[in-house]
Amino acid sequence: MSKITIEEAEKEPFYYCKRCLSLDIREDDGITFCNNCGSLNIDVGSDMDAWVDMYNEAYKEDDNCKRYLYSNKTFFKK
Ligand SMILES: [Zn+2]
Repeated sequence: MSKITIEEAEKEPFYYCKRCLSLDIREDDGITFCNNCGSLNIDVGSDMDAWVDMYNEAYKEDDNCKRYLYSNKTFFKK
């Protein structure tokens, strides 16, 4: 699992759970699911700021969400 820079992460599309907004998305047997809540309602986002706004709206957290995004994105960098 390699680390990517924040600058690289900013430019990449990312998967997120439409139910809980988790970025901990896994794929198993061609099924993409949220590893946090188990939802199959997964969407692809390309606007990180929009996701941060949604996340803040849902969880009222400011400082941790971007860090959370970057740390979870490493799952997509094999
Ligand atoms: Zn979820």
